Amino acid sequence: MSRYLNASLQALEAYVPGEQPRDQRYIKLNTNESPYPPAPSVCSAIGEEDVALLRLYSDPTGKNLKEKLAGLYGVKPENVFLSNGSDEVLNFAFLAFGGKGAVFPDISYGFYSVFADLYGIDYTQIPLKEDFSLDYRDYCGQGKLVVIANPNAPTGLSIPVDAVEKMAASNPDNVVIIDEAYVDFGGETALPLIEKYDNLLVTRTFSKSRCLAGGRLGYAFGAPALIADLEKIKYSTNPYNLDRLTLQLGEATVDAEDYYRQMCVRIQETRAWTRDRLEQLGFQVLPSRTNFLFARTDRVDGGELYRMLKERGILVRHFANPRICQFNRITIGTPEDMATLIGVLKDILGGC
Ligand SMILES: *Cc1c(COP(=O)(O)O)cnc(C)c1O
Repeated sequence: MSRYLNASLQALEAYVPGEQPRDQRYIKLNTNESPYPPAPSVCSAIGEEDVALLRLYSDPTGKNLKEKLAGLYGVKPENVFLSNGSDEVLNFAFLAFGGKGAVFPDISYGFYSVFADLYGIDYTQIPLKEDFSLDYRDYCGQGKLVVIANPNAPTGLSIPVDAVEKMAASNPDNVVIIDEAYVDFGGETALPLIEKYDNLLVTRTFSKSRCLAGGRLGYAFGAPALIADLEKIKYSTNPYNLDRLTLQLGEATVDAEDYYRQMCVRIQETRAWTRDRLEQLGFQVLPSRTNFLFARTDRVDGGELYRMLKERGILVRHFANPRICQFNRITIGTPEDMATLIGVLKDILGGC
């Protein structure tokens, strides 16, 4: 830290992303990326001419991509915000709507508390129940920004859309953010509610179900006035937040919807297979609506299992938080990846 850093930022603890090893030595099941490439039409969407056009700024309004997303999801372009990963729209939303404080679960996406700290937002982390389920009543009438990942990470559990509706209805003077990063793997979307609740912001990403984590593309749906607030922040920080190539890849991705639906089905099938095998090995596995499983066993300590897997070439994600330190979060890879994982786990457990 330099002596020039603003006093208000000196105690800030930055978000720590999952490991991104530079070599390909690992079966990488630690950051919920897709094991599948983008659609063939996306892989060939960018040519030399497009790279040459990088001399020009990108479209700050993202008009074409907004129209495509609006068409696909049955909303208007004014209901759509585009961001550099969904982390960016979450960042903007904390800045825009966190003035009266924020609430979110104790076990959820680790970035929420970092954004709150960054902006000096007073926040409360409400404990999930013993079984990691969420009681929507804990979030009703809070008088603060409510932030819920649905399905949740790292648990993989989801809440029904009527629970979201009750939260939105009972917090009319505050925004309710539903982070739907994983919704395409079996969650229930709150999108239809944005018509009725002008305080509801639904955030999404191309990073998981759209096989585009490295493209950094996210978006959000909400009432036009909410979207305008986010645009105001975007135009006050980085009007060209999306580059030309990413916008173009995003458009090609929306056009290849069928491909991505197939990939999501595949991942759900592999998830079911993996869950069965883990349970046969004696793991407790939470029922997941995402592209990962959250699992523990009494036979090996969670942190130890993480290390043993890493030594054997498999990266998963372990969280040091005492409530979940016996668990590991395991991204669903290809069927071959998961068969390798199960084989390695058998070896490890055989020696315990
Ligand atoms: C991965 C993830 C995000 C952010 O993803 P981006 O790559 O920034 O789009 C947001 N929320 C949750 C819960 C996530 O798991």
